[in-house]
Amino acid sequence: LTAALALALDGHSVTVFEKAEGFDDIGAGIQLSPNAMNVLTQLGVAEAIAARAFAPQSIRLIDGLRGGVLSELPLAATMQARHGAPYLVAHRADLHAVLLAACGATAGVTMRQGRVFESAGGEAFDVVVAADGINSALRREIDPTAKPVALGQTAWRTAIDARDAARLVDTAGVSVFMGPGAHAVAYRMGARDAVNIVAVCDAAVSAPKDAFKGWSRGFAALFDLAAGWTPWRLREVRAAQWNAGRMVMIGDAAHAMAPHAAQGGAMAIEDASLLAAALARPANRDGIAASLKEFSALRANRVERVRRLGEQNRRIYQMGGIMAFGRAIVTPLMPPARLINRLDWLYGGP
Ligand SMILES: Cc1cc2nc3c(=O)[nH]c(=O)nc-3n(C[C@H](O)[C@H](O)[C@H](O)COP(=O)(O)OP(=O)(O)OC[C@H]3O[C@@H](n4cnc5c(N)ncnc54)[C@H](O)[C@@H]3O)c2cc1C
Repeated sequence: LTAALALALDGHSVTVFEKAEGFDDIGAGIQLSPNAMNVLTQLGVAEAIAARAFAPQSIRLIDGLRGGVLSELPLAATMQARHGAPYLVAHRADLHAVLLAACGATAGVTMRQGRVFESAGGEAFDVVVAADGINSALRREIDPTAKPVALGQTAWRTAIDARDAARLVDTAGVSVFMGPGAHAVAYRMGARDAVNIVAVCDAAVSAPKDAFKGWSRGFAALFDLAAGWTPWRLREVRAAQWNAGRMVMIGDAAHAMAPHAAQGGAMAIEDASLLAAALARPANRDGIAASLKEFSALRANRVERVRRLGEQNRRIYQMGGIMAFGRAIVTPLMPPARLINRLDWLYGGP
């Protein structure tokens, strides 16, 4: 939807094929970092999103076993000033609703909901953008060797009532609970009275509780409030090439990644903006393929760097034994502003 909006605002005529009949109250929470919000600001939808979202004060890094806060990285106070856009958290359905409304209000976007797009062959478009997610069917027409690879962990998701959660977790911020081989992230979903919890642990575990045995009493109490967990097996996609002629992949279709830097959606949103910039230049169909190739090369470097950040986060969050002991000593000694400013290359983007 972001790509459709960006392209249509540039004067292209866009048809969106979406296999789902409608966008229900899908999914759970999503963190929208300033690099994503910068794009959404340019597209004129940031205010509408902000009205449904919420700007967390900070990210707390918490020792999941002992319960202490090891560091509190400032968000609300610094992101807008540093990067010209806020760090928000929202319910996915609210983000979708705003983008869908903006597409509906933009001349040049035609929505075809309930339509599965099978193949680019026979379709009379100048460009086909495969934004069909991790299980992309169109990927085999671009890079048949690229397939989702299991990462050995599962993200379990649920939501709990914000009033119940408030005595156990900081509902004004994002909390990351760190422990051996597992971690969990909790934040309020925008203006809604619900706290999103994502618990990441070994894929062999059949109930998330089993992976968090022996964690702090506060964390256990939070876990006791949670029910109705939905598992999402973590997989990644590393396509070597994102375009074939005038077909191009963006988002999870090209580069699904683990959620440990909370950037998969942000990268898809960035892709949309830079794809529109790439397609603003070519004067003819031959030029389009060359522009798409340049776009892919440009994006692949940044996406790879973000993927590595996610992997580094996972290693730090899930340290055990002596490493966790070291983390508990070192983390509080590092100035929080310095920790968050290290991510200027990311949040200042795309
Ligand atoms: C636990 C977890 C937490 C996450 N948290 C964050 C976060 O905080 N911040 C963040 O930025 N990212 C986060 N992500 C990543 C983010 O969810 C994804 O990167 C993002 O949804 C990818 O968007 P996409 O549009 O590429 O694909 P999708 O969101 O998968 O959308 C693909 C769309 O294509 C449609 N479709 C598929 N096949 C066809 C077809 N053949 N024809 C027509 N339509 C089709 C589908 O119905 C769907 O609507 C998280 C992921 C997980 C698993």
